[in-house]
Amino acid sequence: MLSYRHAYHAGNHADVLKHFTLYTVLNYYNQKDKPYWYIDTHAGAGLYDLHSSEANKVGEYQQGIARLWAAHRLTPKERPENYHSADKGQPENHHPAAQKQPENQQPASLAAFAQFAQTLAAHEAMTQLYAGSPLWAAQLLRPADKLRLFELHPADFALLQDNLHALRLGKRAIAKQEDGFAGLISLLPPATRRAVVLIDPPYERKQDYAQVVHTLRDALKRFEQGCYMVWYPCLSREESHTLPEKLAKLLPDNHLRAELHVHAPRADGFGMHGSGMFILNPPYILDRVLREALPELARLLAQDNGAKFILNSQIR
Ligand code: SAM
Repeated sequence: MLSYRHAYHAGNHADVLKHFTLYTVLNYYNQKDKPYWYIDTHAGAGLYDLHSSEANKVGEYQQGIARLWAAHRLTPKERPENYHSADKGQPENHHPAAQKQPENQQPASLAAFAQFAQTLAAHEAMTQLYAGSPLWAAQLLRPADKLRLFELHPADFALLQDNLHALRLGKRAIAKQEDGFAGLISLLPPATRRAVVLIDPPYERKQDYAQVVHTLRDALKRFEQGCYMVWYPCLSREESHTLPEKLAKLLPDNHLRAELHVHAPRADGFGMHGSGMFILNPPYILDRVLREALPELARLLAQDNGAKFILNSQIR
């Protein structure tokens, strides 16, 4: 049974960490001429209305992207000068290294990210939007790059198709209403021999933890050089604690683990106090960019004095 809907969580602290990491990796991949594939095993709907009843049931985005926008003095109605809609061409180079340090001395990479999220949010007349991972990728990939997306939920799949259609990507972007774990394996190795993969399950089912490890083991056998990015929740439950160790064993000499905890674990063990990104074959710049941005993210998104970050990397 599929009960998870990302519309309730869009733009929260976990999305900020995940999409900031994705944004950094895709910009890095864009620096080399050779085309690549972006594979999203759990794509979601692609675009979320932050004024919807779902988003405002708890209002998680208020503790996430809204804090980042406020820190960079961006409001949802502001449209940056370098805005490009999908049919006007590709966005400008948003590689963190290409950005100037903003006036308020926030890390340049975070300022660029906050502004790019705003660019996506300010699309056309709809000014309260937040992009999901497929739309971050759709706006960052170049014309020769391809998107391959999987989403099982019928309603979110229909929304995803509509959102992709609006961007007029044609066959560059193919979405399937299929299991993303099996879908990933069916695509490897990609013809271009370059790929960024995002694995972002809801972890509602305990089996998702084991399935992530099992799928990645298989994926590495088929395509060892891919950049695999896994999002995971930081919870009190054991599977969430042991997942990073299991992922590290898959590629002991080339991985990066980044966690952002926004509050201390609750005494009753309930709820998500943070989340992590685990990357196999990370681009070399990722460690540097996160080392600069995570302290600021932990400060900006802190909900109590248990907020902190973890960054470990083993780079070949
Ligand atoms: N990656 C999205 C983003 O960053 O915007 C959010 C994805 S959300 C956390 C997880 C999604 O996975 C949900 O929309 C859910 O319906 C979908 N899902 C759950 N199990 C799946 C499976 N086995 N294969 C593909 N999609 C699945």
